[in-house]
Amino acid sequence: MQFTVLGARGSIPISRPEFRNYGCATSCYHVEACGEHLFLDAGNGLVHAPLCTNKHAHILLTHPHLDHLVGLPFFPGMMDPQMLIEIYGSTRDGQTVRDYVDRLYSPPYWPCRVDAYPSEVRFHELEEELWIGDIRVIKAASCHPGGSDLLRVEAEGKSIVYATDFEPSDGAGERLTEFSKDADLLLYDGQYTEVEFEARKGFGHSTPMLALKTMQGSGAKRVMVVHHDPRHEDEFLARWEGELQQLDPRICFAREGMKLNL
Ligand SMILES: [Zn+2]
Ligand SMILES: [Zn+2]
Repeated sequence: MQFTVLGARGSIPISRPEFRNYGCATSCYHVEACGEHLFLDAGNGLVHAPLCTNKHAHILLTHPHLDHLVGLPFFPGMMDPQMLIEIYGSTRDGQTVRDYVDRLYSPPYWPCRVDAYPSEVRFHELEEELWIGDIRVIKAASCHPGGSDLLRVEAEGKSIVYATDFEPSDGAGERLTEFSKDADLLLYDGQYTEVEFEARKGFGHSTPMLALKTMQGSGAKRVMVVHHDPRHEDEFLARWEGELQQLDPRICFAREGMKLNL
């Protein structure tokens, strides 16, 4: 299973040089396994998606917040008439995934709907369990304003748990620990410092220290901190990452372009 970070910035894309090392594009991760291409979220990291040579892409949306959807119209596959793009997401506030993608990508917010692009786009409700060829995807509820999903992708004997936009409140921390059991890679929302977290309870994010504790509690083999705060510059993130790696070398912070072969 090949894993690539296409975008790991949280909340809003940024573009200044002080943020270049960890990256500026918002949430998007590519998983290639069993001959299939999966994209976890459609932040503007999706703009630099690799070519899907089988002309088939699966985009799994955790939730419809803008930072997770902003890349969709610039996914290179959207302009390819031979591409089939399947988009999965849970119903939110009574709106299906087709409803909220159409709502965002239609006038006056955007000049055309995704149906108007040359590719074929299909929408699917994200069920508790989904099979994409031999890849199994399971979801569980995250703890985030408006709702979001935790995703677990299992393929080729390996597993990735994607826990972005996640706050470990109301028992959610314990549920994620169980959901991440023995995962090969845990992606965990570490947007805030401890001080920021105390001031922003209820905003639906977490900390790198809790990422480390969740990995240790779940038996996951490694943890990658994702959804970096748009105010945290490279120098600050690198120092923080180094401090945590002193505690446990199995933690790292996602950097745009990083690849793992699981
Ligand atoms: Zn987000
Ligand atoms: Zn969100």
